[in-house]
Amino acid sequence: MFVQNLEQTSSKKSTCCGSWITHYKRNLKLPQETNFPCSRKDCPGLGISAIANVVGAHVKVTGSRKHWIVPLCSFCNNQRGKVLEIRDDTKLVWANVGECQATPEEKKATRRMLRQVRRRNAKK
Ligand SMILES: [Zn+2]
Ligand SMILES: [Zn+2]
Repeated sequence: MFVQNLEQTSSKKSTCCGSWITHYKRNLKLPQETNFPCSRKDCPGLGISAIANVVGAHVKVTGSRKHWIVPLCSFCNNQRGKVLEIRDDTKLVWANVGECQATPEEKKATRRMLRQVRRRNAKK
């Protein structure tokens, strides 16, 4: 499967879950402790260090207009605009805040967390 890594702009903030990797896990109903390796087929950094630095990357699947989240290591996520081949068993999660399947409790926890961040930034 081929995907294009998209630029991460502020308009694509995960306001439902705080971060896209959290959104990814919540929508797949996986515990937050879950670790993923990078989804890129020929990831040059694949290994323990790549697992530790995996983020929820915004991608477009070739031939589709929807935006999706896949786990990518920070190295591969920095290849902005590039077309990357990801492993065929990679699960895609829709990058749509309105369609987020997180539970109301989880979304409430996110709002609380975002409020705290705002308050902390205001104090600076
Ligand atoms: Zn979400
Ligand atoms: Zn990678």
